[in-house]
Amino acid sequence: MTASCPIREGAFRSPDAEALTFAGRSWTYRELDAEIGRWVAALEARGVGAGDRVALLSTSHPGCVFLFFALGRLGALLAPLNARLTSAELAPLVEDVSPRLRLALSSWVDRLPGAEPLETWADAVTSPSPTCEPLAESTPRVVLFTSGTTGRPKGAVITEGNFRASARCSEANLGKHPAPRWLGTLPLFHVGGLAMLTRCAYDGGCLLLHDRFDADAVNQAIDAEGATHASFVATTLERVLDARADRPMPESFHLALIGGGPVPTPLLARARAARLLALQTYGLTEACSQVTTERPLEADGRTAGPPLPGLDVRIVGPEGEVLGPGREGDIEVRGPTVMAGYLNRPEATREALRDGWLRTKDMGMLDERGRLTVLSRRTDLIVRGGENLYPVEIETVIASHPAVQEVAVVGVTEARWGEVPVAFVVPRAGQPLPGDLDAWCRRSLAGFKVPARFLSIEALPRNAMGKVERTVLRQRALAS
Ligand code: ATP
Repeated sequence: MTASCPIREGAFRSPDAEALTFAGRSWTYRELDAEIGRWVAALEARGVGAGDRVALLSTSHPGCVFLFFALGRLGALLAPLNARLTSAELAPLVEDVSPRLRLALSSWVDRLPGAEPLETWADAVTSPSPTCEPLAESTPRVVLFTSGTTGRPKGAVITEGNFRASARCSEANLGKHPAPRWLGTLPLFHVGGLAMLTRCAYDGGCLLLHDRFDADAVNQAIDAEGATHASFVATTLERVLDARADRPMPESFHLALIGGGPVPTPLLARARAARLLALQTYGLTEACSQVTTERPLEADGRTAGPPLPGLDVRIVGPEGEVLGPGREGDIEVRGPTVMAGYLNRPEATREALRDGWLRTKDMGMLDERGRLTVLSRRTDLIVRGGENLYPVEIETVIASHPAVQEVAVVGVTEARWGEVPVAFVVPRAGQPLPGDLDAWCRRSLAGFKVPARFLSIEALPRNAMGKVERTVLRQRALAS
């Protein structure tokens, strides 16, 4: 199956509709189409063609949008690199990509050897190229490096078909909005940001692009710029609600997807009290973002919802047996959003994709109605004397203590039990580590789940996506 250029279609259907905004500027579909055409011409002049890769180091910037769609028109791939990585961390990823061209935000060109400045790169070109090759669904579009919480980042190859299916399956659950305006605060070097960009383009919507997360700017977009949809991780949702002191959301702000990591049920309840339909979602790079999402009409934040229409999820036991409702095991996903494989890693690809099923390395269970509860990353599971402990369950109890701001629980090797949980606690501002945490846990948790130690920490170490870096905490626990 082939698909044509979404922005060209948008420019045909509704040329004057707004397609993109950024820092006070805006582009209609017609303007965006012309801008992309200029970038196509610039790429063609540099000999970039089908199958070539372009490495990009940037925060979200309109140039990333022009480049992404321009590469699509040529059948070439974008390899967006995580802007928070150091030059030493970037080097092996760039080698993996072997890019034909390197672009970086002008202030960062030194971090990516050989890079040219993104902002001005296509300035010299004045006439757009008409090239707009119809793409086969199997055409690779991006190489997206996973954030590496489970080892060296691997480049997931996401195809045109993956993006289209992701948009289609998401809409099948969320419903069609007549004029969606997605708040783009997720970085475009992450699958969540790119899936939002493509979803907007296929739906004829507008992307309100932000180059970083700023809770006040987000609230301004919600209250005054007509944002209809957003995607947050738990910490950013909390910051948005804090910044508006839980002032109710306007009716125009339709819903927000909350995922990317554990989502505390009380936070979703708080969002709903502020009139925000906040839907828990579970997704991952290798499945082009959303896999499951709560249904808008039955959302209660207690699960991550059922698989999107068109996707299958199953829970698998240690012997590869498929487990029924209520049984805990490994989460596997099948469907048209699942990646083509990892770049240059045939073995890792074979390991991840078996008989059409993606092995996610996450653990979870389905209920009778097919709704998924995500229990833990397999590597975060703590096995204490043969008992499985899920950090999120323990974290939820500790986080409910009034003097606790944030908490992360990790497993640490120990002679007697093999592994024991250790809690890193960020006390609320100006407060000491509460002395009653052990008793607090014992009230709601079985004894074997209670952390062996509670350690005070100023802030939890987080990666570019805001995810807690548990490996850092494990090392710290061992050293303390
Ligand atoms: P890596 O794969 O390199 O370890 P990563 O875990 O950050 O990096 P991403 O694809 O960025 O990979 O994020 C997907 C992961 O986020 C999932 O595999 C899962 O562990 C976690 N996650 C996503 N949604 C949820 C959710 N609703 N509840 C709990 N965890 C979630």
